[in-house]
Amino acid sequence: MAFTIRNLKIRDQILLVTFPPLFVLLCAVALFFYAYWSAINTERAALRSKERVVRGESFLRHATEASMAVRGYVFNHRQDLLASYDKSVKEGQEDLLALVDLDAVDSGELQEVIRIRAEFDQMQSQWALPSMDKVRAGAELDQNAVMSDGQSRLADIRVHVLKLRNEDEGQNVSEMTSAEKVIQRMLVVGVTLAALLAGILVFLTGVVTRLIVAPVLQLIRASELVGRGDFSPELPPVVDNEFGVLSRSFSQMTSALRREREEIASLNRFSEAVTQCTSELEVYDLVLHSLRERFQPRQVIIFKLNAAENYLEAAATLVPLPKEEGSWPVIEEPHNCKAVRTGRSFVVNDVQIEPLCPSKFVLPTEGSYYCGPLIAGGIIIGAVRMEAAKDLWTPDRQRLLESYLSGAASALSNIRLLDRMKQQANIDVLTGLYNRRFLEDYTRKLFAIARRRAQPVGVIMLDLDHFKSFNDIYGHEIGDRVLRHFAKTVTNCMRETNLAARYGGEEFVVILPDTSAQACTVVAERIRKAVMTMVVPSNTEKPLPQLTVSVGVVAFPEHGQTLEEIIQASDKALYESKRSGRNRVTVAAEPDSVAG
Ligand code: GH3
Ligand code: MG
Ligand code: MG
Repeated sequence: MAFTIRNLKIRDQILLVTFPPLFVLLCAVALFFYAYWSAINTERAALRSKERVVRGESFLRHATEASMAVRGYVFNHRQDLLASYDKSVKEGQEDLLALVDLDAVDSGELQEVIRIRAEFDQMQSQWALPSMDKVRAGAELDQNAVMSDGQSRLADIRVHVLKLRNEDEGQNVSEMTSAEKVIQRMLVVGVTLAALLAGILVFLTGVVTRLIVAPVLQLIRASELVGRGDFSPELPPVVDNEFGVLSRSFSQMTSALRREREEIASLNRFSEAVTQCTSELEVYDLVLHSLRERFQPRQVIIFKLNAAENYLEAAATLVPLPKEEGSWPVIEEPHNCKAVRTGRSFVVNDVQIEPLCPSKFVLPTEGSYYCGPLIAGGIIIGAVRMEAAKDLWTPDRQRLLESYLSGAASALSNIRLLDRMKQQANIDVLTGLYNRRFLEDYTRKLFAIARRRAQPVGVIMLDLDHFKSFNDIYGHEIGDRVLRHFAKTVTNCMRETNLAARYGGEEFVVILPDTSAQACTVVAERIRKAVMTMVVPSNTEKPLPQLTVSVGVVAFPEHGQTLEEIIQASDKALYESKRSGRNRVTVAAEPDSVAG
């Protein structure tokens, strides 16, 4: 990632923006010390110049006094002037020594002092001392010459001392001027630095706002948007620092939330759709479709548990099963299916490494698979196997899949329950045959189909003979037993495609699709004969008397166009059997001949 301030860690960013004001501050402190130092130096130099001026003047005074003492002695011969001379010379020399010390730093001035000192020494050795020695020896002196010589020497010394003093005063003024200049410059630099510092601070505040406050505000706005359900908020750029990390994690979090929301939405859609399914096949189709959308599996097999017959049937698959598995693929022992045996899901994340399901039923040779039970109301009703790419099965994915399976299981269970209830509403409790309501619905539909296909439908109506007196003699309970045996006898005499129903009391109807009246008589005769040999267990040692049945045979559309007409015609044929002595089969007469 390219190096920019934005990519720096927050601590480094803060350090970076702190550095310039810190640098300016240090410069200001250094400047202050420089000004302080130069003020002190200027003050010292000024003091030294002042002292030199004082010393120079003191020296000049002492030199003058010494010269005056010499002149006084030459004129007056006063002895006390000798002492005054010595004192003035001594003090003058001390002044010169002090000037040497003071001027030690400036070689030009030092030369000047040395020259003055030499002139002073010469004044004594060449003028003062010889003059005083001559006076003391009593020699006559040219007083004017001595005076003029002394004055000229003193004038020379004065010229040099004054020159030195002027230089010192000049130096003093220049030092004061330069000190003023330094202070003025300091003022300018100080104001400039303050302005610079203010500018830098304003600029850095902007930088800090952009670098730190802006991403924080953006993250706050983003979290508010996510809170309101908008999962695509604008996030700070993914830079190489803490904000980058925060931005990346925030983006991952929102993607996870969005994914979860989508999953919940599609699960809700599935749950709603599955409750609207009206058949098991519809549920299977929906489960396969939804799982394919959600998980992109390689294969999904929905197993249906046939608990009574103890096998697992592959009821639906995403991809057709191999032909060699036959048309009725089953796991013959449901306990071989681990999911059914344990009632818990079973996951193999890599079929080439991990142990597989003991059922061994068309197991995949690569990738992964999940096998989970279909449980409704605490009862296992089947299992689902989903095959997918290697290592697909995370706990989250398993949980999601199980939510789909649980919805599917309860929908399947509801459909089965509803089917059972519907069936029960259509079944006669005593005999287990269909009841009259179902018979009428079924026959109406069958007649409609038969009419379109121009096929006949045979109808056999049966009524036990003298059943009332049988009931009266042997009791209602034995009568019920007879009815149950009769129902069994009837179903044993017909084909699977035929339908037997209890029409009411001891009257029964058999419907024979695609069968003419003539063909029906064969079945009717078979039933009649079977009833004659039917054995119904008795409660006593005495066997029950043999029963007989009277039969009426009709055919649609030969004997009637509607169900009512057909029933009416069969009633008539049955009545004819009764009338002509019972225990017989009567085929309804042709409507024309009846009319005739
Ligand atoms: P036939 O048909 O030969 O003319 O004489 P029948 O005695 O069979 O005549 P009917 O149809 O009048 O009598 C029907 C009897 O069937 C009346 C009733 O006692 C009996 N029955 C009807 N339903 C039941 C039932 O569910 N259980 C028992 N035990 N008897 C029933
Ligand atoms: Mg009857
Ligand atoms: Mg009867």
